[in-house]
Amino acid sequence: MENYDVIVIGAGPSGSSCTAFLSKAGKKVLLLDRAKFPREKICGDGISGRSVSVLKELGLLKELQTKDHKDMYGVTFSSPNGTVVPVKAAGSKDAPGFVCTRMVLDDVLFQNAKKLATKTIEEFLVTDFIEENGKLVGVKGTSKGKQFEYRAKVIVGADGAAGFTARKLGVNNSDEKHQSAGVRAYYENVGGMGNKIELHFVKETLPGYFWIFPLPDGRANVGIAILVSHVKSKKINLTKLLEEITTKNPVFKERFKDAKRSTDVRSWLLPLATKKIRNYGNGYVLIGDASSLIDPFTGEGIGNALTSGKVSAQVIIEALEQNNFSEEKFSEYHKKLYGIIQSEVNTNNNLLKMCNHPFLVDLIIGKAHRSKDIREVISDAILNPDNHKNLTDPVFFVKALFA
Ligand SMILES: Cc1cc2nc3c(=O)[nH]c(=O)nc-3n(C[C@H](O)[C@H](O)[C@H](O)COP(=O)(O)OP(=O)(O)OC[C@H]3O[C@@H](n4cnc5c(N)ncnc54)[C@H](O)[C@@H]3O)c2cc1C
Repeated sequence: MENYDVIVIGAGPSGSSCTAFLSKAGKKVLLLDRAKFPREKICGDGISGRSVSVLKELGLLKELQTKDHKDMYGVTFSSPNGTVVPVKAAGSKDAPGFVCTRMVLDDVLFQNAKKLATKTIEEFLVTDFIEENGKLVGVKGTSKGKQFEYRAKVIVGADGAAGFTARKLGVNNSDEKHQSAGVRAYYENVGGMGNKIELHFVKETLPGYFWIFPLPDGRANVGIAILVSHVKSKKINLTKLLEEITTKNPVFKERFKDAKRSTDVRSWLLPLATKKIRNYGNGYVLIGDASSLIDPFTGEGIGNALTSGKVSAQVIIEALEQNNFSEEKFSEYHKKLYGIIQSEVNTNNNLLKMCNHPFLVDLIIGKAHRSKDIREVISDAILNPDNHKNLTDPVFFVKALFA
């Protein structure tokens, strides 16, 4: 049986970034994924500021900019009553974010991790843990019909929203009030797109939104994400709703009149960070979607997945140096991670709650349409996560009311 410092289960953004940071620090890492790369991942493909900063640290931003992608310079919002407001990201000349298919993004992250890791196995399905004296010490799995076992000092669960690790450990987020359901499809020839991502608060999608994320050559990733509890209670068929918005909604039917859907409409779950799970224990940590880290309002999870990859690697490196793989040691990862993301999650959860009231969304977007000051607060919050909370500051609402 082979022995490693760390086994990482899953090579999406969280697992690949964690592998890269650990390997760069000289640790012996085994990276396992059930898929063969490049592989698809159902997603909106929007890459925001938090992702960009970790991609820079990994030295992968320049490479990604040579691949199929489109730079984004802001956000266009629209309200239930159809008011459309483009908000340009303030400050920097460089694009603060971009849109890039997961086929491309994840392959760049994966190839980098593979180059650095001690060993990488694709098409390897992890099926169980090996546990000794209350501590995880390895994994069991299958590849090409054969059974394998590998051991390590630390196990990292990075196997996504429907992965096995969180379920097996009894901490998966199965709370419908803390999960969104999303559908997405690719379109060609969508009219009226520019260099901004588009979040449209169409009445039928609240508390959620309809998005159009532009790709090069008139292509776009188009989709909807709504809280699962709401989808179930209102019996919403998301695929049908997507079809209706693109063909019947007065704001969008014109823009989609010459558009062609080039893929199936596909759905997947978004485990939200409003459900704080116990993402650590004796000999293990959970990161990315396996740890339920998606932003409740924007639906972005790549940034927090990459951040959890980085923060978990920092704590694991210390654990290896101290030869301490206890639950207590790995609770440091939990504390550090939430220290970074909690305030943004709280703010955006408040924004999500606001979306239960269409008149409030109309009000804020209507005011932003008329007031440069309000647009600047939104723009600043988009560009700088530290200023995010300004959006739910009562002062902002008072200003918005009188703008
Ligand atoms: C509809 C939708 C739209 C979204 N839009 C956006 C967006 O625009 N921007 C954004 O930032 N985020 C978005 N997200 C969220 C984003 O997709 C996730 O947060 C992100 O993919 C999390 O990365 P991860 O590495 O944790 O998991 P994943 O990317 O899911 O990777 C998990 C990996 O684990 C592997 N795996 C699973 N089980 C096993 C096993 N048993 N053994 C071995 N390997 C296994 C899988 O093959 C996969 O490669 C969206 C999500 C959805 C569903």
